[in-house]
Amino acid sequence: MSELHDVVIIGSGPAGYTAAIYSARANLKPILFQGMQPGGQLTITTDVENFPGYPDGILGPEMMEDLRKQAERFGTDIRFDEVVEVDFSKRPFTIKSQFGEVQAQAVIISTGATAKLIGLEAETRLMGHGVSACATCDAAFFPDKEVVVVGGGDSAMEEANYLTRFASKVTVVHRREGLRASKIMVDRAKANSKIEWALNNVVEDIHAGEDGKVNAVTLKSTTDDSTQMLECEGLFVAIGHSPNTKIFKDKIELDGKGYVVVTPGGTQTSVEGVFACGDVMDATYRQAVTAAGTGCMAAIDSERWLEEQEH
Ligand code: NAP
Repeated sequence: MSELHDVVIIGSGPAGYTAAIYSARANLKPILFQGMQPGGQLTITTDVENFPGYPDGILGPEMMEDLRKQAERFGTDIRFDEVVEVDFSKRPFTIKSQFGEVQAQAVIISTGATAKLIGLEAETRLMGHGVSACATCDAAFFPDKEVVVVGGGDSAMEEANYLTRFASKVTVVHRREGLRASKIMVDRAKANSKIEWALNNVVEDIHAGEDGKVNAVTLKSTTDDSTQMLECEGLFVAIGHSPNTKIFKDKIELDGKGYVVVTPGGTQTSVEGVFACGDVMDATYRQAVTAAGTGCMAAIDSERWLEEQEH
């Protein structure tokens, strides 16, 4: 018989850790599975300037380390282990991980989201050889080099700006004329003299030299289908994210894009006793502070639900 716990939290971003802090302080002794990227996406970012309470900003990894310590301080059992399968068909729920199996009266899903890729064969082949989905992880490999960023959202603007700390030139390739990013981010990028723009274009192919590293991309115009070669040594893909819900498919209701469906204004999923918070259920705001907010909501919702079960 596997261990039985009141609350099991799957995922370790700001949503999961906040849920853990609240559940632990409610004396529910939560177990938190960190997954393969402890701290989630904030561990691959640099300065977080918009989380309330940090007037000078804070480094993403540092903030996640603080959240982890805070969750641990109140008694969260944090496990460096990845959940591989869940059984929500009967209670208590069963959660199988790489290293074992536990049972839970209530589950909080906070598995976050992962960067999307364009879908080119060369993109996967050259990943780590000039192609990257994380400027903050890899920008330093491109000192005085010319690089390309794909995307027109806040991530693309942020990555382009960050890359100019190292690269000599950054070309933003976006499939439309209009940028999706917020005005402040666009203004900052437009004011950066190292950033050039290839609007109304997509990356059609990525080329490598004899050393196996990226040396150019083919751009294709979305207005007249014309193509051109652009020499560059790095390609950074920043076109959004997909929710990490593979293990929940057919176990709980997901929307058309794979996000967990929750009750409006709450965190209850289609399975009673299973709650979701953070980027895995939020395709709209996707901020550290909103993830933390929904993490708190999921902890309170699960605590009340457990109480109702006279647990
Ligand atoms: P996003 O807002 O969904 O933007 C994705 C961008 O990639 C869009 O411009 C989209 O083009 C383009 N795109 C999508 N699929 C593509 C494809 N297959 N080929 C080429 N281009 C493609 O994603 P995001 O930039 O990651 O931002 C997500 C959320 O996080 C937003 O709410 C954003 O505000 C937030 N965020 C905030 C900050 C910050 O405040 N510091 C930083 C990063 C992210 P279309 O515009 O044509 O659809």
